[in-house]
Formats: sequence, C-alpha cells, structure tokens
Amino acid sequence: MSTLNVNPEWSKLLHEAVTQPGTVSKAYSMFHGYSLGNQLLAMAQCHERGLQPGPIGTFMHWKETGRFVRKGEKALTLCMPITGKRTAEKHNDDTGQDETVEVGFTRFVYKNHWFVLSQTDGAEYTPQSLPDWNESKALESLGVAKVPFENMDGRVQGYARNREVAISLLAEQPEATLFHELAHVVLGHTAEGKLNSDSGERTPRDIRELEAECVALLCCESLGLPGADLSRGYIQSWYKGNEVPERSARRIFHAADAILKAGRVSEEIAR
Ligand SMILES: [Zn+2]
Repeated sequence: MSTLNVNPEWSKLLHEAVTQPGTVSKAYSMFHGYSLGNQLLAMAQCHERGLQPGPIGTFMHWKETGRFVRKGEKALTLCMPITGKRTAEKHNDDTGQDETVEVGFTRFVYKNHWFVLSQTDGAEYTPQSLPDWNESKALESLGVAKVPFENMDGRVQGYARNREVAISLLAEQPEATLFHELAHVVLGHTAEGKLNSDSGERTPRDIRELEAECVALLCCESLGLPGADLSRGYIQSWYKGNEVPERSARRIFHAADAILKAGRVSEEIAR
C-alpha cells in the first residue's frame, strides 16, 4: 500500500462544505464514522470517479462483513494522523544550557486503503444507523458547563467564558448558538481571552467569529439541526473579499469533529 503525497487544501474543502447546502449532511450520513475532513475527501473522490457514494471501509473491513472488493477497484485516499516523538534542542533559562528534550508531534499522511460500498459485492449490506447526539453528554465530555444566561442586551444570543457557555432563552437558533459558543471554548478562544492582549498570541476577533460560525454550521448540518442557513449567510458575506486561512480551516474541522464526537451516544470505533 502506498502513501500518497497529495495534500488537499482544507480551506477549499471547507469552502465547498459551508457554501453548498447539503454537502455536509450528505457526507455525514454516509461517512459519519470518519472525521469531517475525511468525509468531504471521500465525497469529492466519489464524485470525481463517478462512484455511488456510500459507506466506506478498508479491504479487511469489507471482508469481515462478508463482502469483497471487486477486482480492479481503485482505493480511495483518506488522511490519517500519525503521532510520535522526536528530540529537539531547547534552551533552559534556569541553567542557561541547551538541553535535548522529547516533543510529541502529529503528522498527517494520506493513505489509499478505503473502498466505498459500490465497489464491493457479496453478502447483503446492513446499513448502520446514524448515531444520536446528546447535549449533556457533549458538555460533560468536553468539560464545559452550561450556565444561566445573564446579559441584558437583547441582541446577544449567547456567550462563552472560560469553560462556560450561556445561551439566551430568546436565541433564534439555540442549537446553532450552543455550537457557536462551544466552538469558542474548544478552539481555545476563551482561554486566549485571559492572556495579555499585547502578547500577540490572540486570534483576531473577526477570525474567532468566523471559526465559531463555521463550526456551528458543520455541526448543525451534520446533525440535521436548524440554523445552518443563518450561519451560511454570515460565512458567505465573509467570503466576499476574504479567504479562510488554511490554519483556520484545519482548526474548524478539528473543533467540529471534537464537538460531534463528544455528544455521540452510540459506541463507535474512532477512526
Ligand atoms: Zn462568537
């Protein structure tokens, strides 16, 4: 099996996902066991190659379900994280010496190991049901508390502080607002807020809002909850004259995955 050197641009996948209604919900319904980025990668490859989108699995996965990959079928490429440790030189301020330290890293590699249902034959396929998403489970797993809303400004729908979120009872789209505020926490925006703003470490406000709104859209659309259209309007106005930075696109996918996974009720194998 080969490792490909393709490097998909996450910002491009994100652009498609947030501007084309239905892209995310379709990808989620087919490939919900995979990360959002991989769901979109799989969908794009199915379109490109004229394959009927459907559940995906490795050669061995299909074999275990009594199906087999048809001869000559070409595998789909997905992205896999590889974690490891490497050594680095680090200056120790206390001793004034350079020291060798071990640092963890995550690298992403692209592997072509996956086949879509329509590339296989054999025993009848039993579709997996979509996992449920539960708010209290998500809050607990993420270590976030939902606190009473205390803001007199009628235009404010919700807010996030440290590891707390508050949603107005008058919020137009309470689910979308919850995802938006959770995103601020998961993306580290609320933790950054405590840092000295002169440190230059802080994400600019407009990027913070864009990131949170994209996460809200990805979560709402994945779970079929209302609110995606409102987010889409906001994000589309951002695209008039701006691009979403690649770094933000990655962070957005990562945060949406974390929130979706945290609230997942049925046990699923993390892939
Ligand atoms: Zn916000």
